[in-house]
Amino acid sequence: MSVPSDCVFCKIVAGKLPSQRVYEDAHTLAFLDIRPVATGHTLVIPKKHYDDLLATPPAELQYVVESARLLARGILLATGSEGFNLGVNNGTIAGQVVFHFHVHIIPRFPSDNLRPWGSRSDGADGRVAENIRQALKGVSGS
Ligand code: AMP
Ligand code: ZN
Repeated sequence: MSVPSDCVFCKIVAGKLPSQRVYEDAHTLAFLDIRPVATGHTLVIPKKHYDDLLATPPAELQYVVESARLLARGILLATGSEGFNLGVNNGTIAGQVVFHFHVHIIPRFPSDNLRPWGSRSDGADGRVAENIRQALKGVSGS
């Protein structure tokens, strides 16, 4: 696995860039997003570099999700929020800017007017479902 020397989040892990750290364990690190969409907006990352979710091994994903769950509890208590969105932008088309896998934890507040995504009204397409079922026969979960 090659680690880009200019990765912002690797630099944060190494302490070479400042961050507002809120949690750390052997495998994961969490810090406040420098451009928060809500008070308490936190990023949780594996300490090891993986470009995105698909490049991240299942065991590392488990560490990140477990940390996110723990962090969410703390963020709700600290901010008084009653709910949160977990977000992963995977790929440039999806808005990923930092290519070191990370999960956004965004606490929600009444009238915050955040809309993570819109929706269409054209229903769930059975042909699309079949295409996905067929495609899954050719991919691995590991
Ligand atoms: P994404 O669009 O999912 O790649 O999100 C990357 C996030 O990283 C953005 O919300 C940025 O505000 C955040 N970010 C970028 N650089 C830093 C940094 N040095 N410290 C904290 N958050 C950062
Ligand atoms: Zn990195």
